Amino acid sequence: MEQPIAVTRQSFDDWMIPVYAPADFILVRGEGSQVWDQQGKSYIDFAGGIAVNALGHAHPQVLAALVEQAGKLWHLGNGYTNEPVLRLAKQLIDATFADKVFFCNSGAEANEAALKLARKYALDSGNREKNQIVAFNNAFHGRTLFTVSAGGQPKYSQDFAPLPGGITHTPFNDLAAAAQVINDRTCAVIVEPIQGEGGVVPAQPQFLQGLRELCDRHGALLIFDEVQTGVGRTGSLYAYMNYGVVPDVLTTAKALGGGFPIGAMITTDHLAKTLGVGTHGTTYGGNPLAAAVAGVVFSLINTPEVLDGVKQRLEWFIAGLTEINLQYPIFSEIRGAGLLIGCALNPEYAGRAKQITQLANEEGVIALIAGPDVVRFTPSLIIPEQDVKEGLARFARAVARICS
Ligand SMILES: *Cc1c(COP(=O)(O)O)cnc(C)c1O
Repeated sequence: MEQPIAVTRQSFDDWMIPVYAPADFILVRGEGSQVWDQQGKSYIDFAGGIAVNALGHAHPQVLAALVEQAGKLWHLGNGYTNEPVLRLAKQLIDATFADKVFFCNSGAEANEAALKLARKYALDSGNREKNQIVAFNNAFHGRTLFTVSAGGQPKYSQDFAPLPGGITHTPFNDLAAAAQVINDRTCAVIVEPIQGEGGVVPAQPQFLQGLRELCDRHGALLIFDEVQTGVGRTGSLYAYMNYGVVPDVLTTAKALGGGFPIGAMITTDHLAKTLGVGTHGTTYGGNPLAAAVAGVVFSLINTPEVLDGVKQRLEWFIAGLTEINLQYPIFSEIRGAGLLIGCALNPEYAGRAKQITQLANEEGVIALIAGPDVVRFTPSLIIPEQDVKEGLARFARAVARICS
C-alpha cells in the first residue's frame, strides 16, 4: 500500500470548492461524545454533527450493525427490494401516524419528495390551479433548488434564479398572516415544528393547530419538516407528538441514520398512492447498508430510557447554562426543546455567535450556531453527565473570554 496523502487544514483551502469555512483543525476520531483532532487534542461534542450523531460516535451496537451488513449486501438498486429497508419501514409505520414510507439520502431529498407529492396530489384531484405552496420566513428545508426556494432565507436562494414558482412565505408563528394566503389554490403548507437553522424557534401550539385547520378547510397537505426535530431530539420520537397535531406528510433525516446518510418521507396510505411506479425515485434511497444502520439507531432511540433521558439531559444543560449566564450575562433567552437548545445572545453580543463557538473550540468543546445571534447545542441524546459537565466548564471559559 502507498502512504496516504498528507493532509492539513490548508488542504481544504487548496482543494475544496469553498462552500464551507470549517474550523482550523481536523477531527480524526470519536467515541461517545468525545472527539479528537490530528494533534490528539480532545473536544466534548455538543454539536453531534448538526443533530445527526444522536447516539454519539462509534456506538458499539450501531457499529456492529454496520459491520454486519457491510459483510452481506451494500446496494442493489430499486429493481430489487431488501430486508433491512422493509424492516425499517415497518418500524417507522408502527411508531408514527404513517402507513407508507419513501426512503432517500438526505433531508433536502425528503422535502423535495414531499413537495412533489403535494403538487401531484393536487393535480391528480383535477384542479390545475391548485399548486401553491405556503412556507415561512426563516425556515430551512435544504439546498436543492426547490427546497431552498421553500426555505425562508433569501440569501440561500436569490443567486440561483429563476427559482421554482408558486411559493409564498409568511411570518412564522403568525396564524393571521398564514390565513391570508392559504386558500383553495394551496396544495401544501410546509413547516418546521421548531425552526432549527432559523434560530431554534419553537412553533406555538395554536400556530400548528391553526395551520392544521386551514389545511383541512382548503384541502391542502400539511407537511412537517422534522429533519432536525425528529428521532428523539425533543424528547419525543417526533415533535408532532408533543403538539398533538398530526401532519399529512412528515420528513425525517439527520438523526435517523445516526451519522450514516439516510432520509425518509412518511405519509398515509391515501396520499402514498399519488406516487405510483416511475413517478419519483433515487438510486441510493433505501439501500440495505443505510437501512440496517438506521434500523438499529431507531430501535435504540425509540425507548423510554433514551427519550426520558433527553429530558434529564436538558435539565443538566439548563442548570449549567443558567449558572454561566448568572456570572456572565450573555444570553437573553435559552430556548428549544429537549436536546435542541438555542441560546440567544444579548444585543450587546449581537453577531458574535460564530466567534463564541471558535473560542469554545479553543477551550475543547464543539458547539453550533443558528444564525449570527444564537449559539446552538444538539449533542448526543445519550451524552453522559460527566461530558455535559466538562463541556459546559470548557464552554464557560470561552464565554469568560468573550465577556472580559
Ligand atoms: C438539515 C435540515 C434540512 C436539510 O437536510 P440535508 O440532509 O442537509 O439535506 C432540511 N430541513 C431541516 C429542518 C433541517 O434542519
